[in-house]
Amino acid sequence: MSSLWEKDLNRVSRPKIEKDREVETLIIGGGITGLTTLYFLRKQKNTILVDASLCGSGVTLNTTGKLTYLQNTIYTDLTNNIDYETAISYLKSQKHAIQLAKEIIEKEHINCHLEQVDSFVFTNKKKEIKKLKSEKKFLESQNIKVNWQEKKDFCSISVSDTFVFHPIKYTNALKELLKNQIYEQTKIVKIKKHHGKYVCYGKNFKIVAKKVIVACHYPFFFYPFCLPLKSHIEKSYIIAKKTDKNPKVSGITVSNPALSFRFYEDKKNCYQICLARSHKTSKEQNDGKNFQIVKEKYQIKDSDIAFVWSNVDIITGDKLPFIGEIKKNFLIATGFNTWGMTNGILAGEILSKIILKEDVPFQNLFTLKRSNFYQIKSFFGNMLGSVVSFIGSKKHQKAWYHENPIFLKIKGKSVGIYTDEHKKKHFVYTTCPHMGCSLIFNEQEKTWDCPCHSSKFSIDGKCLKGPSTKDIQYKE
Ligand SMILES: Cc1cc2nc3c(=O)[nH]c(=O)nc-3n(C[C@H](O)[C@H](O)[C@H](O)COP(=O)(O)OP(=O)(O)OC[C@H]3O[C@@H](n4cnc5c(N)ncnc54)[C@H](O)[C@@H]3O)c2cc1C
Repeated sequence: MSSLWEKDLNRVSRPKIEKDREVETLIIGGGITGLTTLYFLRKQKNTILVDASLCGSGVTLNTTGKLTYLQNTIYTDLTNNIDYETAISYLKSQKHAIQLAKEIIEKEHINCHLEQVDSFVFTNKKKEIKKLKSEKKFLESQNIKVNWQEKKDFCSISVSDTFVFHPIKYTNALKELLKNQIYEQTKIVKIKKHHGKYVCYGKNFKIVAKKVIVACHYPFFFYPFCLPLKSHIEKSYIIAKKTDKNPKVSGITVSNPALSFRFYEDKKNCYQICLARSHKTSKEQNDGKNFQIVKEKYQIKDSDIAFVWSNVDIITGDKLPFIGEIKKNFLIATGFNTWGMTNGILAGEILSKIILKEDVPFQNLFTLKRSNFYQIKSFFGNMLGSVVSFIGSKKHQKAWYHENPIFLKIKGKSVGIYTDEHKKKHFVYTTCPHMGCSLIFNEQEKTWDCPCHSSKFSIDGKCLKGPSTKDIQYKE
């Protein structure tokens, strides 16, 4: 299982940090957010970025790569849940982000297949037509030309000034451009404040930084900020199928569980990227069944399947990202609600302007200090959700496992054993080191996944994705 973009990932690793260092600004995480932040801070002296793995190999590697402001019916939701001004401000922020992306791509001559396409939001449910009408009315009130289509069982709105791109060709180009400031295979596991500076610890080194930017998708620390109480994680399933032509459109349904698609064309092939079956990671965990649903929804023949993968993102209570200062000189960008191409690029600008003490656009919209009814309401939901996921994760014998894996207790600790095709047994501890949830076995990707906060481990227990910073290797 790998994403369509994975074959293009720049696997030439930048050096590791192995000795103690002192810097002005440290960016943790080299996905679209961290790299774009470094791009805007590139002229600031003594600024570096570290990535636990390879830049671009996190959630950005598995995105569908739409650069659009038409995001389900977000403006109707924001108007209803918060207010009209917030919806207007969010629309402006997304249009601004698209403009930023275009400027960077043009200025740096990045060949990342940026392509203007018509974006659609559609439904075949009668009760959702009212919401589509309201989204159209909102967009038109902001002078956006919206097309309306209504047939028997189908209704859609569309706009034409939106884009798709190859996200990894974008991150590769920034990695190359900024290579002297980037360190890979360098994981930060702990941060402590000492004499007004931040001491960021890795396995055998520490980096002392005046300013720290956390751009690692899900932060590896609970305090400060307590993200698990402010968000939940959503997983979706994607198949890229071979197709004959690129109709230059992209689409998404009004509401979840979403269907979402776009097309991608390189010199050799054309693909339709088909996404379906979005759900909270604590539920519907039978991946085999979920991929089957994607095949059925898009009527995909086995012979047309080119790439198969899944992805997770962080969903906030009010559908707005968190971008800003947690405390003085300690910044974060997270909670992109599956719209991290625009919001990751925008976060790069916002965070760099905070560091450079320049005028910050959209600061109030994304502030970490905001509180609104939907955030407060979801706080209790997320707290309950965390407890339910934690308890739910303890139910080991899931019905969908066939022969693999086996769960047992050894010396009071929960252990999982996966037997590979050569009959080799791979032992791991199945308690997530992050917050103690029980891991589930992902039969499609052959990984151990945390259903609560999306950490991922190899069959031999190596941590592949945070927030966990520790491995789960079994020791006799
Ligand atoms: C199914 C799906 C489809 C999506 N499609 C779209 C789309 O079409 N358009 C759109 O706008 N958005 C989309 N998104 C959302 C978007 O992909 C994400 O929001 C975005 O990629 C997040 O980028 P990031 O840089 O914050 O995180 P990442 O790409 O995960 O980058 C974080 C980096 O931090 C590193 N890291 C982690 N922990 C540490 C540590 N302790 N020390 C050092 N480094 C660390 C990781 O190795 C990683 O490289 C989609 C999301 C999903 C789930």
